[in-house]
Amino acid sequence: MTILAYVLARLCPDTSEEVLEDLSNLDMVDELSIIQGPYDVLMKIKGRGAKEVNTFVESLKMMDFAEVVKYPRVRTLKKKYETTRIDMEKLSPEERIESFAEVIRGYLSEEAIEEASRCVQCPKPFCETGCPLGMPVSSYREDLDARGYLGLIASGQFEEAYRLILTTSPIPATLGRVCHHPCEDLCVLGHRGEPVSICRLKRFVADYMYEQEKHLAYTTRDIFREFISGVEKKKQRVAVIGSGPAGLQVSFDLAGLGYNITLFEELEVLGGMLRWEIPEYRLPKSVLQKEINNILNLGIEVRTNTRIQNIDNLFEEGYDAIFIGVGAPMSKSLGLPGEDLLGVYPGEDFLKDVNLGKYIDFTGKKIVIVGGGNTALDSARTSLRLGAKQVSIVYRRRRPQMPGHSHEISDAEAEGVLLFFLAAPLKLIGEDKLEMIECIRMKLVEADESGRRRPIPIEHSEFLIETDVFMPAIGRGTDIDWLNSLELSEWGTIPVDEFGATSRPGVFAGGDVVNGASVVVEALADGKRAAQGIHKYCQEKL
Ligand code: SF4
Repeated sequence: MTILAYVLARLCPDTSEEVLEDLSNLDMVDELSIIQGPYDVLMKIKGRGAKEVNTFVESLKMMDFAEVVKYPRVRTLKKKYETTRIDMEKLSPEERIESFAEVIRGYLSEEAIEEASRCVQCPKPFCETGCPLGMPVSSYREDLDARGYLGLIASGQFEEAYRLILTTSPIPATLGRVCHHPCEDLCVLGHRGEPVSICRLKRFVADYMYEQEKHLAYTTRDIFREFISGVEKKKQRVAVIGSGPAGLQVSFDLAGLGYNITLFEELEVLGGMLRWEIPEYRLPKSVLQKEINNILNLGIEVRTNTRIQNIDNLFEEGYDAIFIGVGAPMSKSLGLPGEDLLGVYPGEDFLKDVNLGKYIDFTGKKIVIVGGGNTALDSARTSLRLGAKQVSIVYRRRRPQMPGHSHEISDAEAEGVLLFFLAAPLKLIGEDKLEMIECIRMKLVEADESGRRRPIPIEHSEFLIETDVFMPAIGRGTDIDWLNSLELSEWGTIPVDEFGATSRPGVFAGGDVVNGASVVVEALADGKRAAQGIHKYCQEKL
């Protein structure tokens, strides 16, 4: 069955077998599979009777496809279900480890159009249900006469796509580089091939706009300001503590509703974990800064180098509501013997130091990292770029269980990072300075309550790895003892309701301080929900 026949069967369940077969037998349709024009017609006849469907199929038979495909909005899916995505060019592994230059080059316009055109425009886009932010990826928008931002990209309307993405989040170029893209996991093309590169296309439109604005009479800052033009300024003030993804999102959303926002950040620079945890080669600081500047351009007051220690003071200063998005910045220790030796450097602290500009020279050093997430991978790849001779990651489960993004794992391997699976450290050995790590081999037994198979040590399988530096990278914890006026969980996080409200009226929270160390898009979604909660709270207070 062609995709067209399949879609027709889904939209109009009373379509007869003969009609579907007739449709499947159309050579041209089979070759083209699905085209935008007929799809639009399909949407119009959705739910109607067999008569309209028959008329539609008859009109398809009459169609001159050679002419139809010349029409600019007509996009073809040439390989039904056997799809491969358009790859983005990457620096070679040899080039990569020589510098912190961005590894993945963006799409060219033609590539982006071709990739976006792979979307078969599912009547109910599964991709959108997977996005915690509810991004308008590919559902039909009557106001734009397009199928989400993929449809706009496919027809070359990049600025419109950028504007549409901004209605959901202000940091598309950032998100397009670091999101773990749960949308793509649900894309139907993934069942028989590679899903549409939804995330990279988001990056493309933002990069395109930031480049194009150099030649335009207006900039993306002007586009941002459209969000507040005509919005009545409110008297109420909101304090946002922490400038990571959750804080940026909540600031953007509330500024768009006319609130007066003050963004507090304890460091000198904004961005939170986006700045201090993600290396330059994955997320250039200039890209992040550009998007932060656009948000600040909405009239947000910023107070950097300001560590808030008491929320009562903020209420006394006249803030009507407070959002806490201070993340989970504390590195965790493994509690191993010898962890106080010189040469132990938690991965999170290491990345923070490097990303904030500290000079570290690992020339000729051997580094061992424990963990399986992106922090472990980033610590390893950053160590290579700082001259390390040998970098190894020790992980207690197998490769498929590693929580790091699969392409980051492959990239790390290609760059020369050694991966030791089914192994765990037992103790660190050295006089004053670290010299070796004793590890033990593991095996996986039955699943625990998390559903993952549990690793247990294999007796008498200890082995030694020589090393100069040991980096535990096993997750981050929060630092919120100062929030003792709020109810806190036993895991040191802040419990909130569905709109980010904490146990204290007027105080909201989101991001890692609520979820524990989690992913960027979840923090953004928390910020979005909290903005709605704060808006509702402030309106009720009036
Ligand atoms: Fe397009 Fe994939 Fe979304 Fe379907 S699930 S609408 S193919 S991006």
